[in-house]
Amino acid sequence: MNADILIIGGGIQGCATAFHLARQGASVIVLEKDYVARHASGVNAGGVRLLGRDMAEVPLSKASMEMWQTLDETLGEDTGFRRKTLINIAADETDIETLKAREIRMRAAGYAHERIIDRDELRAALPHVHPSCVGGVTSELDGHAIPYKATSAFRRAAERHGAQVVEGAELTSLRQVGSTWIARTPTGTFEAARVVNCAGAWADRVAMMIGDHVPLSHAAPMLMITARLPHFAGPVVGAVSRQLSFKQFENGTVLIGGGAKGFADRDHNTTRLDYAKLAVASKTAIDFFPIMKTASINRMWAGLEAYMPDNLPVIGPAVNASDAYHAFGFSAHGFQMGPIVGQVMADLVLTGATPYDLNAFRIDRYDRKTL
Ligand SMILES: Cc1cc2nc3c(=O)[nH]c(=O)nc-3n(C[C@H](O)[C@H](O)[C@H](O)COP(=O)(O)OP(=O)(O)OC[C@H]3O[C@@H](n4cnc5c(N)ncnc54)[C@H](O)[C@@H]3O)c2cc1C
Repeated sequence: MNADILIIGGGIQGCATAFHLARQGASVIVLEKDYVARHASGVNAGGVRLLGRDMAEVPLSKASMEMWQTLDETLGEDTGFRRKTLINIAADETDIETLKAREIRMRAAGYAHERIIDRDELRAALPHVHPSCVGGVTSELDGHAIPYKATSAFRRAAERHGAQVVEGAELTSLRQVGSTWIARTPTGTFEAARVVNCAGAWADRVAMMIGDHVPLSHAAPMLMITARLPHFAGPVVGAVSRQLSFKQFENGTVLIGGGAKGFADRDHNTTRLDYAKLAVASKTAIDFFPIMKTASINRMWAGLEAYMPDNLPVIGPAVNASDAYHAFGFSAHGFQMGPIVGQVMADLVLTGATPYDLNAFRIDRYDRKTL
């Protein structure tokens, strides 16, 4: 099969890239070794978070946040997006000092979407928060969506514009012969002029086939969801300096994350839970919200995620091959970035340029530092 562009990986980055390319008339094939949204993009916490982003990510994350507000209309499907205030709680005065220092840097860079709140405002928004908490920081544009729905919505919208998605097609070899990339999978051979690597936790292997080396690691962040509780948390909740993250859904269940990691085995597509760390995450939730003592956990799971050493993604062209591009390494916060990453990749592939500064996301940023 032939196309203008071959995308490796059917997660949110691959499907969003396919959507933006196909809607501009490019012919696109997405190769997915399992099925669309099987991995991180289908099992994550659905957090659509601008608050607390690394400064380098803020421009992309802000643009993505704007896209999320109307994504259902853009894609013609329900992504489950709900706009919801996010509050990161300050447990003590040291946290407040951290927030104030960040506020100075944010204002200097011209950003005003984060706002520090005091003890009274925190308590008004979250009446069940532990009385010792002293304040926090909030962003009102934030929200959450349903990961599997949103990723599948990008896939189907791409398909409506003519993209082809081939599932069960693991890329096993990739070679550039002249101006053609030749991709082999157990289900057939595919050819295209350009290739985009959106292979998530396996992206270093695809990068290697392209000729680029990258210090990518992978891990298995874990989540748990409670049985229904009385409504006690309107905003999505995080913490400034502790591993806390949860949101209560309309049906009363509470999804608890925070970044605790289980065991990852990417060769077998499997993860294993680390119950000791889940117990710590539960205890943290109870420390901040004593009402959570009454919660019972219904289900726990983990997903395979790709991490870069600086927790910033790789977004941009390959350095050791022409007509090849990368978007991976989202380090547990890439779901929110999906809409804008798809657009940026489409711009890069079709025009060679993007209005965003991608310098912090170069694949060779570590090579260049050690030279
Ligand atoms: C438990 C958990 C919670 C998270 N919570 C949040 C959150 O609240 N908010 C947020 O913004 N982010 C969150 N994230 C991070 C977010 O899910 C990821 O950053 C994002 O989904 C990455 O998308 P992706 O398309 O790069 O990767 P993936 O979704 O992993 O997709 C990559 C795809 O490539 C395929 N692939 C790999 N190799 C090949 C090959 N050789 N041939 C063909 N296909 C291949 C894989 O099968 C996979 O389907 C969380 C992640 C996890 C695991």
